Amino acid sequence: MHFEKINNKGQARLFKSNYLEMLTKTHPLVIWGMYLPIIFFLLYYSSNTFLYSYSRMAATFFGGMLFWTLFEYLFHRFVFHWVSENPRIQKIAYVLHGNHHHFPRDKERLSWQPPSFS
Ligand SMILES: [Zn+2]
Repeated sequence: MHFEKINNKGQARLFKSNYLEMLTKTHPLVIWGMYLPIIFFLLYYSSNTFLYSYSRMAATFFGGMLFWTLFEYLFHRFVFHWVSENPRIQKIAYVLHGNHHHFPRDKERLSWQPPSFS
């Protein structure tokens, strides 16, 4: 992935459709608002349903963070930065992640948006 210029302002246009374009953006706080309740619910659930001790919950939590960090690194390294001569694959890589490097200060595309998961 190589760009002639890294843009510190503005954002990429990913789709011609305004509706699809809207689905690629979200406020950064939406991600926290989505994940924090899930994290707290799973901690509560593991304590009440599986009777996990605090030390086991902590070990599971930090083990999950370690696993996620490794997974995200490998996914980033081998999928998001996929090098191909095929224009279709280049377009997919740009839509999935390349735009993030092209416009690194675009706060609306810091992470994948909730519609991306559906
Ligand atoms: Zn990257």
